[in-house]
Amino acid sequence: MKAIDTHVHPGTKEDVIDCGGKYIEDAFRFFGKKVEVLTEEALAEQYQSLDIMGVLLAWDAETNTGNKRLSNEYVAGLVKKYPKTFIGFAGVDPWKGKVAIQEVEIAIKDLGLRGVKFQQAAQAFYPSDQRFYPLWEKIAELKVPVLFHMGNTGYGAGVPGGDGIRLKYCRPIPYIDDLAADFPELTIIGAHPAWPWQDEMLAVAMHKANVYIDLSGWSPKYFPASLVQYANTFLQDKCLFGSDHPYLTPKRWLADFEKIQMKAEVKEKILWQNAQKLFRI
Ligand SMILES: [Zn+2]
Repeated sequence: MKAIDTHVHPGTKEDVIDCGGKYIEDAFRFFGKKVEVLTEEALAEQYQSLDIMGVLLAWDAETNTGNKRLSNEYVAGLVKKYPKTFIGFAGVDPWKGKVAIQEVEIAIKDLGLRGVKFQQAAQAFYPSDQRFYPLWEKIAELKVPVLFHMGNTGYGAGVPGGDGIRLKYCRPIPYIDDLAADFPELTIIGAHPAWPWQDEMLAVAMHKANVYIDLSGWSPKYFPASLVQYANTFLQDKCLFGSDHPYLTPKRWLADFEKIQMKAEVKEKILWQNAQKLFRI
């Protein structure tokens, strides 16, 4: 195993067509791609041919978008089918209240998933909103990391009014900083270079020992200089490789990462050692 891709959307029909709904074309267009649907075999084959592992993400933004969810059961099924290739993160809709809390418990304890993913732009909520604190308490109690989308999003991108999607929910300070302060026992991962709030995300990860960064959704070629500098130094134990498949393939991300200037031992940490520790793989 050469790397662990910590941010993988399956790209199968259940993900792209059933769950993506009207937003999926925006997302693919945002990444300069045509909508594409993969078979489960083709998904697994991509990771196996690169000799890397992937973290598959479930997704539930039903309340805000009306879209079907990509269920925890579906993701757990893929992990079961390809146990050497994938681990999985649950996705629950925080607006579902007690149901979301129950789903998290089932996903971790019974389905064997290893973390929980949120996309606040699609789900329309602030992580520091106290109405959701019982959910974070449950996730902390289960001792698994929680992944939040940070910065700009492909959902609604280029559409008048952004299709109703609001970016404000994905700002690191104060929302992630407050959450990290209130839940020091909760491991929090901020996904993607958090543009246009990259420096805020770096500050939160520097300041709060329980906050990590995944580098998915951007080719390393385009990483802001501050991100490369911090990843190479102060944050070398806190940055994780992630692609954001299928929008950006792990093959492309890894090829571009090879070309950026960074210490070889730091690259090893980012590619797999940090994730291995964090997810206890
Ligand atoms: Zn993503």
